[in-house]
Amino acid sequence: MRTADGTVVRARVLVNCAGLHCDRVARLAGDDPGVRIVPFRGEYYELARPELVRGLVYPVPDPAFPFLGVHLTRGIDGGVHVGPNAVPALAREGYAWSVVRPRELAGTLGWPGSWRIARRHWRYGAGELHRSVSKRAFTEAVRRLLPEVTEADLRAAPAGVRAQAVLRDGTLVDDFLIREAPRTIHVLNAPSRRRTASLPIGRRVARRALGALEALGVR
Ligand SMILES: Cc1cc2nc3c(=O)[nH]c(=O)nc-3n(C[C@H](O)[C@H](O)[C@H](O)COP(=O)(O)OP(=O)(O)OC[C@H]3O[C@@H](n4cnc5c(N)ncnc54)[C@H](O)[C@@H]3O)c2cc1C
Repeated sequence: MRTADGTVVRARVLVNCAGLHCDRVARLAGDDPGVRIVPFRGEYYELARPELVRGLVYPVPDPAFPFLGVHLTRGIDGGVHVGPNAVPALAREGYAWSVVRPRELAGTLGWPGSWRIARRHWRYGAGELHRSVSKRAFTEAVRRLLPEVTEADLRAAPAGVRAQAVLRDGTLVDDFLIREAPRTIHVLNAPSRRRTASLPIGRRVARRALGALEALGVR
C-alpha cells in the first residue's frame, strides 16, 4: 500500500476503516465492496441561547431513514448544536455547496442506488434541501422541538459529511457492514448510534484479522 507521501507500507492483512473513502480503498485493494459511499452533508447551527436546552432534545426516529433529522445537542463545552439536515454533498469532503469534485460526483451519479434513493425519497430530500437554503424553514423544524427558538437564535456552524453506504438497490445501510477477503477486512458502515458497541466491534474486527493471519499460516 502506498500512502499519500509515497511511503510503501507492507502488511499481511489490511483493515480498511477509511470512512468517507472506505469503498474506494476496498476497490484499490482489488475487492468489490458491493456498496457505494454516497456523501450527505449535515448542516448545523449553534444556539445563541444555550440555556434553553439542558440535555438532548431528539425527535422520535423514523425507521425508514438512518437520518435522525434536526435535533438539539448540548456539548461538553455547554454550547448547543442544532441540526443536522441531510443534503447531497457534491464531493466526498464537500463541507459546503461550493465544494464540487466532478469525478466524485460522477461516481455518485453513476451508482444505480443513488437514483433509486432519489426516486424513493425525493419528497423527504426536497424538504432537506429547502431547510439548507432557507434558514426560516430550518428554524421551523427546530421550533417543532423547541417552540421558543427564533431565526435570530441560530448562528451558522461548521457542517459534517456523513459517509452513507448505499447498496445497488438503493438501500440505505443502517447497520454495521463488514466485508472480508482473504487478506483484507473492510469496515464499510459503522453507524454512530451504536458507538457504545465500538469496543466489541473493534474486538470482532481484530479477531477476524487474526483469523486471516492464521489462515495464511502466519500464527
Ligand atoms: C452530520 C453527520 C450526521 C450523522 N448522523 C448519524 C446518525 O444520525 N446516526 C448514525 O448512525 N450515524 C450518523 N453519522 C455517521 C457516523 O458519525 C459515522 O458513520 C461514523 O462516525 C463513521 O465512523 P468511521 O470510523 O467509519 O469513519 P471516520 O470516523 O470518518 O474515520 C475514518 C478515518 O479514516 C481516515 N481516512 C480516510 N481515507 C483514508 C485514506 N485513504 N488513507 C488513510 N486514512 C484515511 C480519515 O482521516 C478518518 O480518520 C453522522 C455523521 C455526520 C457527519
